[in-house]
Amino acid sequence: MRKVVACWHCVLQRDKCGPGDTCDRCLKRSQRPNAECGLGCSRVRLWELVSSFLPSIMTSMHENSQLTNFVALHIRQWSNVEVTLRLTCGQGLPYISCKVYEFAPKTQELLQQFQYTTDTRTGKCIRVQKSSPPLGMIQLNHKDEQRYDRYINDIVDNYLGPFAYACFAEEQNDFQRTLFLMMARLRPKADDEVKLLKEVFRLIVVTYIMGHTLTIQEETKEQSLRQLRSYIPGVYASFCSPRMTNRQLKYFFCRLHQTIMTNVLNKLQQIFKSSKGCDKWTSAFCAVLGLAMAHEDNQKTIHLVTQTKAASHEMSVQDAEAQSDATCEDIDGKFSFIMGIFRWKYNRGYNPLRDSEQDWMSKLKDPGAIQFAREVSILVRENILAADYLNRRQRIKICTANQTQYTSRLVAQFLLSFWLPS
Ligand SMILES: [Zn+2]
Ligand SMILES: [Zn+2]
Repeated sequence: MRKVVACWHCVLQRDKCGPGDTCDRCLKRSQRPNAECGLGCSRVRLWELVSSFLPSIMTSMHENSQLTNFVALHIRQWSNVEVTLRLTCGQGLPYISCKVYEFAPKTQELLQQFQYTTDTRTGKCIRVQKSSPPLGMIQLNHKDEQRYDRYINDIVDNYLGPFAYACFAEEQNDFQRTLFLMMARLRPKADDEVKLLKEVFRLIVVTYIMGHTLTIQEETKEQSLRQLRSYIPGVYASFCSPRMTNRQLKYFFCRLHQTIMTNVLNKLQQIFKSSKGCDKWTSAFCAVLGLAMAHEDNQKTIHLVTQTKAASHEMSVQDAEAQSDATCEDIDGKFSFIMGIFRWKYNRGYNPLRDSEQDWMSKLKDPGAIQFAREVSILVRENILAADYLNRRQRIKICTANQTQYTSRLVAQFLLSFWLPS
């Protein structure tokens, strides 16, 4: 018989699994009352969920063929005017140096760009149309992917503070930023846990980059753009971005996004399957929390992608809304499954968040991790439990002038699950 992957229920119960759509043990369990854990009989490997978490609605435009078509459609000819741009993904964050060329456009498409900002007071998302300079890279070299990989590392190693500021600037309170900075202070001891935590931060950073426009560093903007043949003074406002270059860079970051997400899910799967007791609780917790942060951010991006398609008449407003809602629901569902595994594996025996007053030294074995769990516990009690989030399905509004759309609050859902009966 071909070896089958054990189902999650059997893995977590340390039972021997068997073949079939529903394994024998799950079948027996389903006949007992109250034995259902909500996971079903699923043999899915977590990395297989990447295609749901990073759905084609956001990735397909970054595929090689689509990019080539896009260039053919909108660029008539490349010139020999070479400019080196300094592009950044946020205030206080390092820049990427990029050698680009001016092109003669075939259409008006690449001379303009939609950018989105959120009004922090009202939570409303505002779409602004800006002039975009006709600049792009003539060739995309696969070796360059390493440069962008290093750029992500640079932010994770040296700029987590400013990054936390930029990443959560649109949030209406400090909750997520505080949580993020608590996680940034963790210093795991084991090498594999250090690596996983770093990968979690890399995931949050690359997700942020995918959701934001890379813009020309303000101090160098005029100096760079003045070299263009088509330059007209005063045309390019602040946070100016060459749309073509931005899209080409996203091609690389999109690939990195998929790789990093796969790494995190893979490692999480290993911890779920092979660690015993409370070992690696902190790492598993940070991985799931990091995924929740990344998914929330992705869901906003998914809405912006479909909104942009509607604004440029590629699809109707209704279709855009229906498509992004369905895609986000799918992410919710798949993430629920991962939260379910976490609860089933840990919460019945070990719950350092809810039971933060207990002595966890013999189980977590790391004073830093215990302190972290305690701080998170207080934060959750003060911010979420107190605010009665518990029975509401909290969603944030993303509004444009004529639309209202939602993404879920997955971070809050995950944190609240520690206080649900297990
Ligand atoms: Zn089974
Ligand atoms: Zn099963």
